[in-house]
Amino acid sequence: MSSTKRSLNFIEHIIEEDLAKDYSKSSLRFRFPPEPNGYLHIGHASSICLNFGLGLRYSAPVNLRFDDTNPTKEEQEYVDAIKRDVEWLGFEWDKECYASDYFGQLYDWAEELIKQSKAYVDSQNAEAIAQQKGTPTEPGTASPFRDRTVEENLRLFREMKEGKYKEGEHVLRAKIDMSSSNMLMRDPIMYRILHKSHHRTKNDWCIYPMYDWTHGESDYIESISHSFCTLEFAMHRELYDWFLDQVVTPENLRPKQREFARRNFSHTVVSKRRLLQLVEQGVVSGWDDPRMPTISGLRRRGYTPMSIRNFADTIGIAKRDNVVDLSLLEFTVREDLNKTADRVHAVLDPLLLEITNYPEDQEEWIEAENNPEDENAGSRKVPFSKYLYIEKEDFKEEANRKFFRLKLDSEVRLKNGYIIKAVSCDKDADGNVTKVYCTYDPDTRSGSGSEASKRKVKGTLHWVSKTHAKSVKVRLYDRLFTDPTPDAHKDKDFMEFVNPNSFEEIEAFVEPSLMDAKVEDRFQFQRIGYFVVDKDSTSEQLVFNKTVGLRDTWAKLDS
Ligand code: ATP
Ligand code: MG
Repeated sequence: MSSTKRSLNFIEHIIEEDLAKDYSKSSLRFRFPPEPNGYLHIGHASSICLNFGLGLRYSAPVNLRFDDTNPTKEEQEYVDAIKRDVEWLGFEWDKECYASDYFGQLYDWAEELIKQSKAYVDSQNAEAIAQQKGTPTEPGTASPFRDRTVEENLRLFREMKEGKYKEGEHVLRAKIDMSSSNMLMRDPIMYRILHKSHHRTKNDWCIYPMYDWTHGESDYIESISHSFCTLEFAMHRELYDWFLDQVVTPENLRPKQREFARRNFSHTVVSKRRLLQLVEQGVVSGWDDPRMPTISGLRRRGYTPMSIRNFADTIGIAKRDNVVDLSLLEFTVREDLNKTADRVHAVLDPLLLEITNYPEDQEEWIEAENNPEDENAGSRKVPFSKYLYIEKEDFKEEANRKFFRLKLDSEVRLKNGYIIKAVSCDKDADGNVTKVYCTYDPDTRSGSGSEASKRKVKGTLHWVSKTHAKSVKVRLYDRLFTDPTPDAHKDKDFMEFVNPNSFEEIEAFVEPSLMDAKVEDRFQFQRIGYFVVDKDSTSEQLVFNKTVGLRDTWAKLDS
């Protein structure tokens, strides 16, 4: 991958420094740790590309770890979707791990902490505990249960596990420091009671470990050398280390947490909670709606794994939070599809064109190159006849010299076909053009080798033969939000910025070769943009999604 050529990012510097000191290359091991409470989004792609990218760079294993400690929000459906997305991006994990597989070990360690008077059962409600937390400048107040005996704590904790108590009746807290300047160190909760069935452990447990207690210990169990997370966990590092101090033995590798900036993207939201809201409220058709910034939405929209990986590599890993313009992702997908997508003829807004001097019952099958950027892409035959469709906007009765399309008394080339000249047109009562009449020059066929075929005219149009064209549905998308940072407004909910016009479905005409297209096949509709076959297609009706236009139209709108 290109990562060997560019300069090291700060995460790689950390690893290089560790390798120069006391880490061996074979001790490196990374993980990507999603919580299965939603589908992966483009923000996760940064973390996936970081961790799996490090794996590739250092030939180190990378675990896929499901951080599944909250049964109220987690589901098998999400586990399956996450695996599918990581695989689709082209990464291979070493072990498939689940924090829930460590519930037994975590429980045993918790009992050890109780025995060492480093954890206690608090029987206050959440509100009382919150009130005693103090503020960053004032120390917290000790719980009245802080000095329970080891025996009492052990008995209560075991009874919590056995299901003797209701949710909220007790929690297990680490006994650290109620006056620490880091409020997370003020006796953080390790376990809470939840009488909920877990998607994997079912009803085995009714107490569940908290994230902080689980994450570092899971890293330790898996011998993870470097545990990279986003900046909001920077303050948690002290706690991560404190929990590790309680269990790490000198002969085992001690994992190291380091933080990088969470990525935000313009005109969308990347938070599973908010994306779930869009799904549940029917703003979108599902997690894989082509407007969603999810990996599965981008996939359905026609994005390639390479475009997403290149995008993540290009924006890199940052130390500070910032907003990345999503048009950069469009740039990387254009770049990739330009190399890989076959060019085809498709007309989205048809205007009938008759070639008056072309024989009524004649048809030709013209050889057309599939992709000039790829010499192995081959060619296909495209039908040509007397009646064609061109794009409505490609004809004007009169226009200035900069209109390099069709106007009366002037010439254009029909891509892969002939040079034509517009002679006259029909109009309806409102003055809209309904049909164009042209003549063609039979000696000018593209690729025929004749002198006339080499004649240059300004302007080339795409077209389809009316009798051979196939009707398809095309779905056009706009940004899902009208505001560049929909979730950054204090006084307004992000839902207020949903773009009411982000979806449109039209009928279009395509060349017949497309009838063999399969779901997820990607094409360049010449002069329009990139399109992909949607899973809603049937054998009678193909449905295409527009991935992106050929040029960045938003850049102009924004300036
Ligand atoms: P969300 O708020 O969307 O639920 P999360 O951080 O809670 O995000 P996790 O499933 O816990 O989601 O994330 C798995 C990994 O991906 C974590 O290491 C997390 O830091 C990282 N990650 C999540 N969102 C982003 C983002 N926008 N940019 C970079 N990394 C991210
Ligand atoms: Mg999370």
